[in-house]
Amino acid sequence: MIESPLHPRPSAGEASSAAEELTVADVVALVEAAAPSHLAESWDSNGLICGDPEAPVASILLAVDPVASVVDEAIERGADMIITHHPLYLRGTDRVAATDPKGRVVHRLIRSGIALLNAHTSLDAAHGGIAAALAASIGLLGAVPLEPSPADPAQGIGRIGSLPVPTRLRDFADAVAAALPDSPPGILVGGDLDATVETIAVSGGAGDSLLARAREAGADVFLTADLRHHPASEHLETGRPYLICGTHWATEWVGLPPLAQRLATAAEYGGRRLSTHVSTICTDPWALRLNTGPAPVR
Ligand SMILES: [Zn+2]
Repeated sequence: MIESPLHPRPSAGEASSAAEELTVADVVALVEAAAPSHLAESWDSNGLICGDPEAPVASILLAVDPVASVVDEAIERGADMIITHHPLYLRGTDRVAATDPKGRVVHRLIRSGIALLNAHTSLDAAHGGIAAALAASIGLLGAVPLEPSPADPAQGIGRIGSLPVPTRLRDFADAVAAALPDSPPGILVGGDLDATVETIAVSGGAGDSLLARAREAGADVFLTADLRHHPASEHLETGRPYLICGTHWATEWVGLPPLAQRLATAAEYGGRRLSTHVSTICTDPWALRLNTGPAPVR
């Protein structure tokens, strides 16, 4: 069933083509339905960052980060709105002057008539959100939240589920590499590569804080990003879950196509015109990975 705050409109007759467009406020409502703000962490920032609620929206660009390259793409595509996962100002600001990169983003968006909205930990936790999409992308069965939300235990941070068949860690890692979008650092794998694994925990983005939770939950592998040397090394000294460390962008990007699809479906259900595009610009900070050590002798 489609849960949509949009009321279906009569398809014939009275509605003009302008009336069939969504507004920024409609998109805010659709994203709130997909990623309810009560699921967000208390320290987080989610919602409309810039834009006029009454402005029309015919086309939306979805991306992980609200950075200059994504604004460039939105302008090139003629998008009316950008939806990002990360907020522009997580800790607030007292100025938006175009003297720094974030201020320039605000200025360029307003000049170009482009609204910006973000859904961060609300989308991490939601049904069909980032964690659920990451679990689905690697084929987990029976995935449930790794850390259920106090507001709704059926949703929450991370997911844990099972592979259809027990698999060697190295083969599972190959499947993860194939499932994630390409990013120069790729993935790193820690643990016994020939061990058999079946129960998998995932959390898109920085997952250090969930290492103990993944162990308590009985995971054989924890797939996340941004793992640091000491937490990862000390964790592996005690054994499972083995670790697969992707990049922040890649492990979160997988949640954007389902959100785009959900918005498009809800718009269509409400008889509105909307095109969505998921940016494929990799906004990880890393542009190149090189093998280290002396070059092989030829
Ligand atoms: Zn993130």
